[in-house]
Amino acid sequence: MERLVSPKKTQEIVNKYKFKFSKSLGQNFLIDENILYKIVDGAEVSKEDTVIEVGPGIGTLTQVLSDRAKRVIAIEIDKKLIPILGKTLGDRDNVEVVHADILKIDINKLIEEKNIVGDIKLIANLPYYVTTPIIMKFLEEKVPIKNIVVMIQKEVAYRMQAQPGTKDYGSLSIAVQYYCDPKIITRVPCTVFIPQPKVESTVIKLEVLSEPRVKVKDEKLMFAIVKASFGKRRKTLLNALTNSELGFDKDTIRTALENSNIEPSRRGETLVIEEFARLSECLGK
Ligand code: SAM
Repeated sequence: MERLVSPKKTQEIVNKYKFKFSKSLGQNFLIDENILYKIVDGAEVSKEDTVIEVGPGIGTLTQVLSDRAKRVIAIEIDKKLIPILGKTLGDRDNVEVVHADILKIDINKLIEEKNIVGDIKLIANLPYYVTTPIIMKFLEEKVPIKNIVVMIQKEVAYRMQAQPGTKDYGSLSIAVQYYCDPKIITRVPCTVFIPQPKVESTVIKLEVLSEPRVKVKDEKLMFAIVKASFGKRRKTLLNALTNSELGFDKDTIRTALENSNIEPSRRGETLVIEEFARLSECLGK
């Protein structure tokens, strides 16, 4: 099958199969070859790798992944796309299409069942309505992936890689940077999709760390502290954490802040992840 990544070819497939785009499934298909290669090159896909692709659509990115990788497991929720993918990818013996909702399947079990060996990479032009849940599912369920290269909404990408003291820095920055080193690869205009989304996009690479960035006894407590700190961004840490769901009284919070070497009058948005970790260890005692 010839390359799908052109406005003409994509439109041809859409017309041939009378495919109707679903807005609620975040269906915006890529029609720009340049961006396609930026994604695949960014992930440094090689013949040693197995790629998990979420949402292959009509198979545009999948074709190139299939050329570069050892295997591609493409997981698509829309049953109307399954027969189309059968045609567009039918000539490729290293691609397996799985009809499923990525948020509902056990990815670690899938990897075991498919007997995947070697490096695994998550590469996708993600549906924007579930970008964060999909990425966090892979990270929190400790799916053994080497890196993630995904096209996502521009604002979300900037929040993922934001540093302390900036307006984009928040719970998502800490959650992603706990597991990964994020790096923006390129910004992407709306014009490279059919249909065009209303928001700008960005390709981001998340290099997964071999161990989480900081060591804490109670991950849940650390993330609850992060959530409470950013929930009331304008308040001092002492006040934000005292009047929160954490349930500690003011004196306990003050002592923990002092023991972690954090000035109680600081705001949550100024703390680096190592400081959140220290505070979590002191509060968890
Ligand atoms: N990869 C194609 C491309 O680049 O042209 C399509 C990308 S489109 C932005 C997102 C794709 O994800 C759609 O094919 C959509 O049906 C699929 N999708 C949406 N939600 C999903 C979910 N929960 N699980 C798996 N696939 C999903």
